[in-house]
Amino acid sequence: MRKVLPPTLRPERIRSLNGCGEAAPGPVLYWMSRDQRADDNWALLHAQREACTRGVPLVTAFCLAPVFLGATLRQYGFMLRGLAETERALRNRAIGFVLLRGDPGREVPAFARRIGAGLVVTDFDPLRIKTGWRTEVAAALRVPAVEVDAHNIVPAWHASPKQEYGAYTLRPKLRKLLPDFLTPIPALRRHPYAWPQDPGPADWVAVQQSLRVDRSVGEVLGLTPGSTAALRVLRDFLKNKLNGYPEASRNPAVDGLSHLSPYLHFGQVSAQRVALEVNAAGAAPAARDAFLEELIVRRELADNFCLYNPHYDTFQGFPAWARRTLSDHARDARPYGYPRDRLEAGETHDDLWNAAQQEMVQSGKMHSYLRMYWAKKILEWTRSPEEALQTVIDLNDRYEIDGRDPNGYAGAAWSIGGVHDRAWGERPVFGKIRYMSYNGCKSKFDIPAYIRRVLKNQPLTTAVGRTNRTGGRLTNTEAP
Ligand SMILES: Cc1cc2nc3c(=O)[nH]c(=O)nc-3n(C[C@H](O)[C@H](O)[C@H](O)COP(=O)(O)OP(=O)(O)OC[C@H]3O[C@@H](n4cnc5c(N)ncnc54)[C@H](O)[C@@H]3O)c2cc1C
Repeated sequence: MRKVLPPTLRPERIRSLNGCGEAAPGPVLYWMSRDQRADDNWALLHAQREACTRGVPLVTAFCLAPVFLGATLRQYGFMLRGLAETERALRNRAIGFVLLRGDPGREVPAFARRIGAGLVVTDFDPLRIKTGWRTEVAAALRVPAVEVDAHNIVPAWHASPKQEYGAYTLRPKLRKLLPDFLTPIPALRRHPYAWPQDPGPADWVAVQQSLRVDRSVGEVLGLTPGSTAALRVLRDFLKNKLNGYPEASRNPAVDGLSHLSPYLHFGQVSAQRVALEVNAAGAAPAARDAFLEELIVRRELADNFCLYNPHYDTFQGFPAWARRTLSDHARDARPYGYPRDRLEAGETHDDLWNAAQQEMVQSGKMHSYLRMYWAKKILEWTRSPEEALQTVIDLNDRYEIDGRDPNGYAGAAWSIGGVHDRAWGERPVFGKIRYMSYNGCKSKFDIPAYIRRVLKNQPLTTAVGRTNRTGGRLTNTEAP
């Protein structure tokens, strides 16, 4: 009987990592990293097609690194609970899942050798640490390794071969390519070839308990991770908020955002699925287009920045005009000066800034409009742009659930270093970097209403020594 194979992917979505030619016999290994979901995952779909073509099992491995860019229990917990759901979804389709622990650069090739993998497929991430792991894995393998961009709708390397100046230069390129890439996503099938060496399900409770990570920033209780929750959040957005976009999304005093960023960051939902659902929702065209501008253009611009700018998280990564103007104003007197601990504690003279900081610390997600104000004030109140950028990145990555993301590095570089922006009127400290003021915010939204919302909405967190009513134990009823 003729085999019916899963559909092929567009070749532009796939890149060889090590130039090895023919796949060897043995299972196909999907090294899952950024895109931690079973459905709507182009890397997994490619791995399944390759496994079906060869008539071999398909095995997924996720490697849990002991430390990752300052991630705390908050982010590890959200990720692990999502992975537990993904493991169940894969097992239901007869796809193996193994949780590895340690340095992915060493563990992934060692595991590939142990199971006799004939091909390794992984997903794409432009961050330096991930690129380093992929290079190590690919160099250590004797079988082909490929990466598949499962995160961007238009594969980042295909959308543009260079760092873009701004949304205005990337947008037309994406527009031209979207008809080819924003297409329906085939379903992941039940895999026809079982993996006989399957060690059985991971013990997620034991994994959680044995984590040696910073537990001083706890999980956000009441926020459910995972792909099912992501689709619920998406449906709520489509039904109740999309038509109010972008006006409501710019008003921190009301709840007008999608809140999809934690799910998008961990790849628990695909941006392409979100875009397809938004297109099908029948929303007002202006609202739909404004949302897709953020979801597609801004998000993919951030990946472009991190892919092509090796200095995406330092002063050196700013455009020349911005470095010049910030250097010209490096010695300007700062109106206020706060050390890192006062900022972290939300103890400044500015009640709006303090509330934004508190929103991030408590809920793991600061309002998007205030992220810009928050970062720009850190530039105004610290000793140098270098210190400001480092403080923004450290606090963002420590408290935001969606932190350590290209969007975060691009957002910090936009706020402090003029990346993807233009020069504005010159003023102290900022030079020609765009300025934001308390009075500007006051004219745009009801600041006291926002502050009341933050105070009222403080969710429980399991932060040790913070608002922890459970003695630091992981008692989320959603625990795997
Ligand atoms: C200083 C600063 C730090 C930031 N840190 C992060 C971060 O760590 N992680 C992160 O995902 N985003 C970050 N952003 C971008 C943006 O603020 C968030 O993506 C947004 O607040 C997420 O909330 P939402 O999903 O409810 O947004 P929505 O408005 O509902 O947007 C939907 C999606 O569009 C994308 N998007 C929206 N705004 C932007 C933007 N400005 N740039 C890129 N993509 C965007 C995101 O994927 C977002 O999830 C940062 C921005 C700034 C200025």
